Order: sequence, then C-alpha cells, then structure tokens
Amino acid sequence: MGSGSGSLVWFRKGIRIHDNPALEFASRTASHLYPVFVIDPHYMKPDPNAFSPGSSRAGLNRIKFLLESLVDLDLNLKNLGSRLLILKGDPAEVVIHCLKEWNVSKLCFEYDTEPYYQALDVKVKNFALAAGIEVFSPVSHTLFNPTDIIHKNGGKPPLSYQSFVKLAGEPPSPLTTVYSSLPPVGHLGSCDIFEVPTITDLGYGEAEQDEFSPFKGGESEALKRLDECMKDKWVANFEKPKGNPSAFLKPATTVLSPYLKFGCLSSRYFYQRIQDIYRSMPKHSSPPVSLSGQLLWREFFYTAAFGTPNFDRMKGNRICKQIPWKDDDKLLEAWREARTGFPWIDAIMIQLRRWGWMHHLARHSVACFLTRGDLFVHWEKGRDVFERLLIDSDWAINNGNWMWLSCSSFFYQYNRIYSPTTFGKKYDPNGDYIRHFLPVLKDMPKEYIYEPWTAPKSIQTKANCIIGKDYPIPVVSHDSASKECRRKMGEAYALNKELNGLVGEDDLKNLR
Ligand code: FAD
Repeated sequence: MGSGSGSLVWFRKGIRIHDNPALEFASRTASHLYPVFVIDPHYMKPDPNAFSPGSSRAGLNRIKFLLESLVDLDLNLKNLGSRLLILKGDPAEVVIHCLKEWNVSKLCFEYDTEPYYQALDVKVKNFALAAGIEVFSPVSHTLFNPTDIIHKNGGKPPLSYQSFVKLAGEPPSPLTTVYSSLPPVGHLGSCDIFEVPTITDLGYGEAEQDEFSPFKGGESEALKRLDECMKDKWVANFEKPKGNPSAFLKPATTVLSPYLKFGCLSSRYFYQRIQDIYRSMPKHSSPPVSLSGQLLWREFFYTAAFGTPNFDRMKGNRICKQIPWKDDDKLLEAWREARTGFPWIDAIMIQLRRWGWMHHLARHSVACFLTRGDLFVHWEKGRDVFERLLIDSDWAINNGNWMWLSCSSFFYQYNRIYSPTTFGKKYDPNGDYIRHFLPVLKDMPKEYIYEPWTAPKSIQTKANCIIGKDYPIPVVSHDSASKECRRKMGEAYALNKELNGLVGEDDLKNLR
C-alpha cells in the first residue's frame, strides 16, 4: 500500500472520459489503473414503502439512467484497454478496503461540494493520507471552484446572479486529452468485483414502471445530444423565458441536465462549445436568458449552496425566509400523485413521474402551485418529491430553485403567481401536452381542457370523462386559494423584515 505506481480513480459523478482531470492525473504515470465505482445499496435497493418505484433515495428512472451511464463508461474504458470495476457496499469502507488491498500510490476523485460527499471524502482522504497515498481531488463538476468565488466575495457566496457573474469572470478551458490507451487494471486481491447490474439484477420487477424516461444515460449519449443541440442559430437565439414548456416531442431546451448531473457531460466542454458558436455569431443572446447564462445559473446555485449552512432546509438557513407553511399531507399527496384536478399541473406531475424531466417553466408552475401559489405546502416537501423523481435531481440546484419558487430566497415577488389554468394555455391552446400525459382528458374539447370542471355534463359524457369520477374536481379554487396565499405571504414577510436586508435589490430583477 502506498508504494507502487498504481492509481485508483474513484468515479462518483464525473462519469466520463472527456475533460476528466482525476482520470487524466491518475493515468499519467501509473503502471496500473483501477477505475472504480461503488454501488451503495442504499441508493439502489428497492424500497417497497416508497411512493414510487425505486430505492429509499432515488426513483427508478434515475437509477436506470445511472446504470446506463456506468455501462457506457465501462465500454469506453474497455475500448482503451481498461474496464470499470464495480464494487458494492458503503462507499468509504469499500474504497478504504481497496486502498489496503491494491498497490496504489495515488487516489484520484472529483471534488464534490454536496454535504453527503464532503462527509464521505473526509473519511477516505484521511485514511489515504495517513497511509502515504497521494490524494488528487480536482474541481471539475462545475465551471468554477465555488471556494474561489466565495473567497473573492469576502467569505460569503454572492446572492444575486448579477453579482455572481461579475465576480466569476471566464471559466477555465476543458482538458483536451485524447487517450489512445489507458494503463491496465492491476491485481485485484480479495476485492469482489461485479459487472454493472441491470435493474432486474437489483430486484426490480419487469413491469415496475409503466413508462421509462426517453433519455438514456451515458457519456456517448451526452456528447451525441450536445452535438445535436449545437446548431448555430438555435444556440445564438436561445432565450430561456421564450421557450415553450409544453413542447414534449421536441423540448424547447437542451435536456442536458441529467448528463450534467452525473457528469456524463463536462460543463466546461458544454460552455466552450457555446462560446465557439458565439464567436461565429456575434449577435447572440446574453445571460441570464442565454444558453451560457443557464450554465451560470447552475454555478450560481452551486456557490450559494456551498457557502450557506443548512441550505437544504428552512430552519437555521440564514438566507431562507421563515414562513408558516401548512402541514397538509392530503394536499401534498394530491399534488404528488397528479390528482389536483388542474390538468396543467397534473400533466406536469405525470411527466415528472414518467420521464424524470420537465421544462423549467413547467417546474415553475408546479412548484409555485404547491407552495405560495395555491396549496401553501412547505417547499421542502415538494423538494423531496423532485429529489426522488427527477433524473437531473441535483442537491444545490433543486434546493435553490425550490427556495426561489416559494419566494423563500433569491426571488421575492410573491404577488406574481402562475395561473394553473391560463399559463399553459398561452403556449398550448389545444392542450396537446395535457392530452398526452393525461389521456383521460384526451377527448375533452379544447375550450374545457384546462378547466374541465366547467364543461357541461353532456360534454363530459361525450368526452368519456366525468369530473369527480374519472378525473378529480379541483382541490382548491385558484382564485380564493391564491388570494389567501398572498395574504399569508404578506404577513410572513412582515415578520421576516430583518432578513429582507440580507440580499441585494438586484435579485428582484433576476427574472429568468
Ligand atoms: P437548459 O435550459 O438547456 O440549460 C442548460 C443547463 O443549464 C441545464 O442542463 C442546467 O444544468 C443549467 N440550468 C438551466 N436552468 C437552470 C436553473 N434555473 N438553475 C440552475 N441550473 C440551470 N435543475 C437540475 O439540473 N436539477 C434539479 O434538481 C433541478 N430542480 C429544479 C427545481 C425547481 C423547482 C425548478 C423551478 C428548477 C429546477 N432545476 C433543476 C432547474 C432547471 O429547471 C433545469 O436545470 C432545466 O429545466 C434542465 O433542462 P435543460 O437541461 O434542458 O436546461
């Protein structure tokens, strides 16, 4: 241990070969390379008590996406004369066991700002350093190092997008290493090595889920999707708020978020490809609405999350307004199970369950509806549902956006509420999105598709959809519920007055 010239590269996120500094460093001078991924049973094992198929921590769509990403990584490593070593167990214990068994002098893994990895990495790092193993843990999941930004800002994360962008400057370029081969895997000792499991191997039944996400995991898919998206005019003209949230056959945005979440795609490479187009098309959109601006939103939330204790909760979180949210499990369940009686909201929640992805403005609609718009349910409850079901579920971005949408932080115009009936109609007057995800309403005439409870009985009968029997009556009246929400938010804001001064006025201008 610690004396050989072998390297262990530990994949967690960063499931890719391109622009992977940990892999590059690990392989540079090594005689042997151990590419490792540890399957944590808690993350993968079926949980029969969960509200949707999956483990206690992740929905099945995300587990499947991760497994596909691992299969792709294994294939790409095999093409370079290596392979992915799958191990199972508590990740810290497994990696420490490998370090004891294998003759390695370097341990390389991508730096991770999430609290889960921060705690895990301390254990492994401490062991490695005490054993004389060099640890290399570069920042490569984000464009910038959140620590540097926080340092530049005097020790606190910038809390407005504008101030973040001013501080950030230009990100470093991605690595351009192209491998012709990688060092061979060394002697494996007593470590149990597995192939990448299938979802059936993990104990999930064939018919566990009726429809799987159309987005397949892996670096190869990510790079293919990136190439397809990098059409000069589309990228140059991209303005996020102008996108159609109901477009599902051809989404209005890149759908690269799941690939960024698992690091199948390097954000630095993505950013560079956008900049290449901007250079050739000088007339292009700008942050915050441009495509490069979207990547900066990601950075903004990563930095805010890393620099804010208790970022994932209301209590003890200095940037989060304290609001007396309702504890109403019935309303939460109606929202989660797509039974609110508002077709626009329910169709989005079905898309979330089936695909694990929805357009940003669709996420806005359902998050606003659950919290300050209509139901006044705690944002942490909605966050939990997204965290489980999204394939792009990301600790920093999800928590940050839930605080934003619930007007708990970053954005404070609580009087601006998304209508659950008219917002979607602007984009999709015929209701095609609703008809697709809620087939029970497929024959409802377009005049009633957003408010089917207003359809006369004869129309409901003709459409084979009786409201109250085949599809629910709305759980609230939007007019009175939203009025009541505004009133409660006003009261809560008055009580939070001392907190208001903590964030800059320019946050209010940050409408995406
Ligand atoms: P594009 O518009 O093509 O943008 C490119 C990339 O920029 C995205 O892949 C993403 O990495 C980043 N990005 C775009 N918008 C945002 C944003 N508002 N904040 C931070 N980064 C952004 N995104 C996640 O990746 N994971 C989450 O868990 C998540 N939870 C969300 C919860 C709520 C309540 C809301 C309102 C938004 C959430 N988002 C989350 C942000 C955003 O909706 C998605 O990143 C985006 O819809 C992904 O689609 P895309 O890749 O096509 O985005």
